[in-house]
Amino acid sequence: MASQNKFGLSRNVPAKIRRQVRENSKFGCVICRSGFYQYEHIDPVFECAEKHDPDAICCLCGSCHDAVTRGRLSKQAIKAAYEKIKFADIKDVDQPVGPLDFHNGSAELKLGKLLYSPVVQSVLRYHGQDLIRVVPGQDGMPGSISADFTNSDGDVILQLVNNEWLGNLESWDIEVIGQKITVRSGSGVIALQIRLDPPGRVVIERLDMRIHDGHVIATESTYAIGRYISETEAMWLHCEIVINRAESTGVAMEFTDPEKLEERDSLFMNTSQGLANQDRSFVMNTHSGVFLKPFGLAIASFCGAFNMGPTACGIRKVTDVRRVAITKPESLAQFIGTGQVT
Ligand SMILES: [Zn+2]
Repeated sequence: MASQNKFGLSRNVPAKIRRQVRENSKFGCVICRSGFYQYEHIDPVFECAEKHDPDAICCLCGSCHDAVTRGRLSKQAIKAAYEKIKFADIKDVDQPVGPLDFHNGSAELKLGKLLYSPVVQSVLRYHGQDLIRVVPGQDGMPGSISADFTNSDGDVILQLVNNEWLGNLESWDIEVIGQKITVRSGSGVIALQIRLDPPGRVVIERLDMRIHDGHVIATESTYAIGRYISETEAMWLHCEIVINRAESTGVAMEFTDPEKLEERDSLFMNTSQGLANQDRSFVMNTHSGVFLKPFGLAIASFCGAFNMGPTACGIRKVTDVRRVAITKPESLAQFIGTGQVT
């Protein structure tokens, strides 16, 4: 296939135009709403196009594209569907959707260098509600990962549910390239990037998620959880931890009430190995996990066995933690603890 047409127009649609096409197409195939799509020149067709016009290109999935190529679906139908969806109110349009492959029973989530599951099922919990949950299949049943991902404003942007992913139509951009799904809140602002690694694994490459007064920032190699103390600053907790065993009640990252952590602390204080500062505001205990009591932040609670690396907590600006996590992930613990980056 030639990379240019007779007018010298490249097959590669520029990024800015592609985003406009995705927005116009409401981030999915204009016919069947599949979230896995390609860019289709509809009118004029690519061979006759003199420029990349977002109104003449739409998102079309491989299957619907095949139906056009084989003459079962007309270009006019695609054009009509595109016009309709472009001007439709988002409440009248189905969300883009794509299948997730958990058929072999495994369900693994990789986040901040750590691989969750099969040892821990509750990966992120906010006051008793699981926001990210990983459940391996049993007795030949497929596994599953369920998740409600929000952006840094706290709005839901992408969900994993019933082994499908669903994009939120209010997002500024949802881009799918190969195995990667990227949700942006604005130009160059990545709220979430996940990589599908089938069967059974989802890798979170970027997460910048606000949950009411809590925040989780993660890249593929580091992460931190924080509780807001002002509009711009949070108390952050980072702990490089490898969980080897967990009970069914195990929780990898948790936002909860200080009183709940007080209770947990008194329950396990003298029963397992532990370390704590003098007033027991910061506790590391092999059973109750690592927690910062006054801020209700906990990591690896009820995860009976873990190996621990660098741990740090400190008040830092959300924008600074985000910047260091992205540009110097190996320095994040030190930055949270000391405010310095080496
Ligand atoms: Zn389709």
